[in-house]
Amino acid sequence: MSKTIAVIPGDGIGPEIMTATLRVLDALDCGLAYDFADAGMVALDKHGDLLPKATLDKIAEHKVALKGPLTTPIGGGFTSINVTLRRHFDLYANVRPAISFPGTKSRYENIDIITVRENTEGAYLAEGQTLSEDGEVAQSIIRNTRKGSTRIVRYAFEMAVKKGRKKITAVHKANILKTSTGLFLNVAREIAKEYPQIEFNEMIVDNTCMQLVMRPEQFDVIVTTNLFGDIISDLCAGLVGGLGLAPGDNIGEHAAIFEAVHGSAPDIAGKGIANPCALLLAAADMLDHLGQVEKGTKLRQAIRDTLTHDRDSVTPDLGGKGTTESFGEAIARRVAA
Ligand code: NAD
Repeated sequence: MSKTIAVIPGDGIGPEIMTATLRVLDALDCGLAYDFADAGMVALDKHGDLLPKATLDKIAEHKVALKGPLTTPIGGGFTSINVTLRRHFDLYANVRPAISFPGTKSRYENIDIITVRENTEGAYLAEGQTLSEDGEVAQSIIRNTRKGSTRIVRYAFEMAVKKGRKKITAVHKANILKTSTGLFLNVAREIAKEYPQIEFNEMIVDNTCMQLVMRPEQFDVIVTTNLFGDIISDLCAGLVGGLGLAPGDNIGEHAAIFEAVHGSAPDIAGKGIANPCALLLAAADMLDHLGQVEKGTKLRQAIRDTLTHDRDSVTPDLGGKGTTESFGEAIARRVAA
């Protein structure tokens, strides 16, 4: 049976990496149909709107979207399109896997850590950020709710069960931020009791950063609040060689948007050398989400094999002399085999 997904190629290198990704998905034969939608500068040029209603409607209709990077114009009062999408669809879980791949420059091998970040509350509220009239005192609010903490922690545990993960670490700063991250930690402790098959531990955020750098093998799944998750997920991306291989999944009750973590890379747009792997890994996560776990696993393995055996096809950012097209084709050949 065919499933239609919304596809947003996006700006800069977006259309190039999206073409390569859809080519691979077709070769994987996962029965997906694509409903293309515009967002970002391309939508502003075509429709006079960075995020047209038709695009929101398509995401709402299909419930799943694969999205290229979007450029938000600097200044001019534009709100980030990604933040708008997150708010509009209440995409409360930001899931960021960091996996080691062969042939990439990184400090460690065999890293496989998933950060599950709360994406709608915490320190990133639009309201409650004030600056006194004399400009001397800046204030911002951190607000965590039981409802918000419960749904993110439960999401992390359910994901761990589904993916066969063994351990969850709740990251907090409840020793200092006693109320806000204290509430999150208490909720995590309560929910952990319902999942005795998953090992649970808790760690203060500053120690977590040190432990991640020194002994990353002790981590499996990390669940944490918005600001800590933002920082820790990038730290984890750094452990496996940067953003070129970092997918980001934005999950809500009614919609899910899968994307690469990197941006539209205007410096290399149109040159045909953008690395499509982060978007391909996001597509693999999307296949898991759609219940096609075997296909997702096959796609990740094909990327791994291509990086090991087809070094000529790999893009320059990973040390190869290839192009977006040659890299995509090499992966497509492997998934079709
Ligand atoms: P960037 O991630 O676009 O680029 C940073 C550096 O990484 C550049 O040198 C770029 O060439 C390189 N790079 C990024 N992706 C690559 C890939 N797939 N293959 C090879 N090299 C790659 O970050 P930036 O320059 O700070 O941002 C550019 C634009 O992207 C901005 O308008 C920003 O708002 C937007 N952005 C969008 C998203 C998103 O839509 N999710 C995320 C981050 C930034």
